[in-house]
Formats: sequence, C-alpha cells, structure tokens
Amino acid sequence: MGRRRKKYKKVVKRIKKIPDIFQCPHCSMKTLTIKFDKINVPGFKLAKITCGTCGLYAEMQVPDIYENVDVYAKFLDRYEAGDIEVEFRKISEAGEVVGESS
Ligand SMILES: [Zn+2]
Repeated sequence: MGRRRKKYKKVVKRIKKIPDIFQCPHCSMKTLTIKFDKINVPGFKLAKITCGTCGLYAEMQVPDIYENVDVYAKFLDRYEAGDIEVEFRKISEAGEVVGESS
C-alpha cells in the first residue's frame, strides 16, 4: 500500500512566557516581583521578593536554575508555613523599595 502519511510537522515557535509579576500573598495585589542577585555560593543565587504595594520584602537562597516562577512557588509555600522571614519596607514613589528612610 503506497499510502503515505503526510507528516505535518508543525513548528510553532512559542516564546516561553515567564510571568515576572505575581500576586502578593499578603495584600493580594499583582505587584510582586522577584529579582536575582549573585551570591558567593556556587550553584546558588539570591532571590529577592518584593511587593510594590505593601512593601513586603523577603530573600531566599535558591538553586541557580530557578526561574522566578519556581521562586514564587517556593516562596508561597514557605510564606504559608511561616517559614520565611518577611519584612515590610517603605516604597518610594517610583515603586521601588527603599529600605528605611526617616
Ligand atoms: Zn503586597
């Protein structure tokens, strides 16, 4: 049987969209951002979690391969469990967290 199956190889280039703004577990606003900093621990980096609304701030040491979604999931877990130290910082008008200033 010479029936050939046409093989459709659909190549859909999908850009992996990684959200960079998350919902804050404290104020429920979608203003939580996660940034990374280098640290002196091989294979790890420091994730800084900041909410632009309530000023929530937390730091977490995470494996280097973590994307911010992974950090967010882990952060939520630890936040729910009360397992992470969270502080609230003042927010400047630009929406940046500025530490203490008074
Ligand atoms: Zn918040």
